Amino acid sequence: MLAAKFASRSSMRQSWSRLMTTAASSPSSSYKLVVVGGGAAGLAVSSTLADKLGKNEVAVIEPSPVHYQQPLFTFVGGGLKDFNDTYRPTAEVVSPNAQLIPQAAAQINPESNTVTLSDGSTVSYEYLVVATGIELNFGGIKGLQDAIGKNGVASNYSPKYVQNTYEFLQNVTSGNALFTMPATPIKCAGAPQKIAYLADELFREKGIRDRVNVNYYTALGKIFAVDKYANAMNAIAKSRDVNVNLFHDLVEVDGPAKKATFKILGDGARTGDIVTVPYEFLHVTPPMKPFDFIKNSKIANAAGYVDVNQATLQHNRYPNIYSLGDCSSLPTSKTAAAAAAQSKVLKSNLLAQIRGDAAPSAEYTGYTSCPLVTGKHKLVLAEFSGYTGTPQETFFFNQANEHAFSYWLTADLLPEIYWNSMLKGTWSGPAPIRKFANPTSIN
Ligand SMILES: Cc1cc2nc3c(=O)[nH]c(=O)nc-3n(C[C@H](O)[C@H](O)[C@H](O)COP(=O)(O)OP(=O)(O)OC[C@H]3O[C@@H](n4cnc5c(N)ncnc54)[C@H](O)[C@@H]3O)c2cc1C
Repeated sequence: MLAAKFASRSSMRQSWSRLMTTAASSPSSSYKLVVVGGGAAGLAVSSTLADKLGKNEVAVIEPSPVHYQQPLFTFVGGGLKDFNDTYRPTAEVVSPNAQLIPQAAAQINPESNTVTLSDGSTVSYEYLVVATGIELNFGGIKGLQDAIGKNGVASNYSPKYVQNTYEFLQNVTSGNALFTMPATPIKCAGAPQKIAYLADELFREKGIRDRVNVNYYTALGKIFAVDKYANAMNAIAKSRDVNVNLFHDLVEVDGPAKKATFKILGDGARTGDIVTVPYEFLHVTPPMKPFDFIKNSKIANAAGYVDVNQATLQHNRYPNIYSLGDCSSLPTSKTAAAAAAQSKVLKSNLLAQIRGDAAPSAEYTGYTSCPLVTGKHKLVLAEFSGYTGTPQETFFFNQANEHAFSYWLTADLLPEIYWNSMLKGTWSGPAPIRKFANPTSIN
């Protein structure tokens, strides 16, 4: 399917030849700035800095030949968007002024200012930005690796299994549909429940809702971290007859028998109990973890995330290293929206340092956003600081209410902004819009 899509693109030949050229010239090269990871965060930074620092001063190390706009996966899983619209060739989205190195980073060596690549060669840098995202750990749940992609088990979190979600949902005629959220930090903490509401709507449209139980199982003790939106989501779940089971951590999947097993967390009377539930459909949000090569490097904190100052995004021990996005230690909710806001701060501070200006002065205050899709044309647009838990809404209306405008913004406008502005480094979030659309909001 990927090949067919690329073949239809007129730019395929140029992209491929560029990929080959960069691949050939990558070993043992030296750059002013190396960006590890060409995802949402890495490109938001590298595009601007490649333009500012000049041609081939910036290298982007990225092993994937395609770039996915992951926020669209929820819509694909719900049958509302086409999977083919979620990806583009990496060589097309990296700035033409940057050097794409189509390999994985295998080791980061901050003492020698080098990155070792998967083929054993090294790239040296004056400045480094680390933006490798977070690793999906399907192997962290017993039996899941064998069950997923069949046995009614799907996940919007992986491009490999996202299309199974809608496919398997359509096969359901009765029984239990289960949706899980793990105990580990994850990207887009709202996505595990968004798909439950889309499934509920689908079952209603098919006239089978009275025969299907929709059950949301979260390992956490709350449906959402911020009270304002947690209250809204609890009310929506109740009104849709979505059963919310707190402190239930998925520990095993038996695909052939179609059974999911949960361990009860928390400190209640049933803590430690094991509960096994039969299912017809199971949507799994896998546990996630930092990549081992980051975790085992000198730039990681104890938890394995890149150890940066939460305001300036500069590394706490190596001043020529910065990090943003899902792989960073920033204690906010991991989203592309957060990465956009972080990218502005990072670029400002790094450029100031490169130019020899004063110490980093731009500050990130934890802004993040989670658009909680609750149905076709319905969405709760959570925006808040992950540092303080304070809502930071862009618009004058109460964004905890489901709104068709919020849906349009997320489903139709933001995907265009992502391709045409965020990846080009010109979108750093809605703060400028908030100033006039909701002047009384914080920041
Ligand atoms: C189902 C789903 C729904 C979501 N919904 C939303 C939403 O509605 N709103 C929102 O704001 N966010 C949403 N997100 C989260 C958002 O996609 C991520 O937070 C965002 O992509 C983080 O950007 P990043 O650059 O840190 O990581 P990524 O975008 O994941 O990019 C990391 C990059 O690093 C590369 N990489 C990995 N290992 C190496 C290596 N060894 N060497 C070099 N490169 C490497 C990867 O190939 C990848 O390209 C959603 C995510 C999912 C999965």
